[in-house]
Amino acid sequence: MITHKIAVLPGDGIGPDVIAEGVKTLRAVESKLRDATFELREFSVGAEEYLRNGDPLPAETLARCKEHHAILLGAMGLPNVRWPDGLEMTPQIDLREKLDLYCGLRPIRLYHAADTPLKRYEAGQIDFVIIRESTEGLFSGRLAKPPANREERTDTLRVTRRGSERLFRAAFREASRRRGLVTLVDKANVLPSMAFFREIFDAISREFPNVRTEKIYVDAAALYLVKRPETFDVLVTENMFGDILSDLAAGLVGGMGMAPSGDIGEQYAVFQPSHGTAPDIAGRGIANPIATILSVVLMLDWLNTPETSRGATLIRGAVERLFAHPGNRTPDLGGSLTTGQMGDRIVDEILKTNE
Ligand code: ATP
Repeated sequence: MITHKIAVLPGDGIGPDVIAEGVKTLRAVESKLRDATFELREFSVGAEEYLRNGDPLPAETLARCKEHHAILLGAMGLPNVRWPDGLEMTPQIDLREKLDLYCGLRPIRLYHAADTPLKRYEAGQIDFVIIRESTEGLFSGRLAKPPANREERTDTLRVTRRGSERLFRAAFREASRRRGLVTLVDKANVLPSMAFFREIFDAISREFPNVRTEKIYVDAAALYLVKRPETFDVLVTENMFGDILSDLAAGLVGGMGMAPSGDIGEQYAVFQPSHGTAPDIAGRGIANPIATILSVVLMLDWLNTPETSRGATLIRGAVERLFAHPGNRTPDLGGSLTTGQMGDRIVDEILKTNE
C-alpha cells in the first residue's frame, strides 16, 4: 500500500468551495483503489492568512508543504487585501518561484459542443496543452524595488538558457506522449529575449527528432487559437504570454471553471484550477469545481503509479460521461447545479464505475 501525502491549501474566495469538491473526489477515487491511500493535511495560506498573521505564505507552512509529495491549492488573493505598494498578494506565484516550478501545465479540452462559443466543434475536438514558463519571463521583475526616478518604471523580461532548456524539454516530452507537435509561441521578431528563447527552442528540438515543431508569434497565436484550435497539440511559451493565452484558451471550452493546471518542477508540484479567487461569486456556492477536479487528475497522473493513473482515468471518465448530459452544469455554463451538487455527481459517477 502506498500512502501519498498531499498538502491542501484552500486559500481565499472560491478556493475553499472548489477544494472541498476536489477532496471529495479524491476520497471517492481512494475508495476504488486497492493499493493507494491519500494522507491530506490542510494549511492556511493567502490573503486571509495575511490578515491573521501578517504573512500570506509563512515560512513554517512552506517548510511543511515541502514534506508532502504534492500540493493541492484552491485560489489565493483578494482585491481589497494588498501590500503597502498597492500590489495584490500572490502567494501562489511565490510558491512557483520558491519551489522552482518552471513548467506550468494547462490542458484545455472541450467536453461538449454546447460549452464552446465556437461553431462546429464536438467533444474532444479541442484538445491541447499550454506549457507556460512559470519562474521567469515578464513576471520576474514583479518584486523589483521602486527606482529613485519616480517618473518611469520598467519591467524586465528575463529568459535564461537553463530555464528555457528545461521548459522546452518538458514540452517535447509532453508532445511525445500526445500527438507529437510542439508550437513555440514567442515575439522573436521584436524582442531580443524572445529571439534568444527561439534559438534555444531550435537547439532542444534537435534532441527530439520524432516531434514536429512550428513557431508562431504571440499575436498570431491569439488569432489561431480562435480560428483553428484543433490544429494545436502542445504550445510552449513565456510566463506572461502563457498567463494571457491560457485564459483565452479556457474561454474556448467553457471558461475558467473548466481549466485545470499543474505547476511542476524537478522536486515539487502544485496543482490548482487556472482561475483566481473569483470574488464576484465567492460565498455563493455556485463556483464550478471541475477545474479543481481536473487538477486532481493532473496530480494523480503526476504521482505516476499504476494505481494513481487508474484514479486519474476514473475521474476523467466520470467528467466525460456527466458532461454528455446538458443538465450536469453549474451556472457559469448555463446550468443550475451548486458547487456541492456538481461534486456529488462526480463522486456518484466514480463510485458506480465498473472497471
Ligand atoms: P486572477 O487574477 O487571480 O486570475 P481574476 O479575478 O482575474 O483572478 P478569476 O478569479 O479567475 O479572475 O475570475 C475571472 C472570471 O471568471 C470571474 O467573472 C469569475 O466569476 C469567473 N470564474 C472564475 N472561476 C470560476 C469558477 N470556478 N466557476 C465559475 N466562474 C468562475
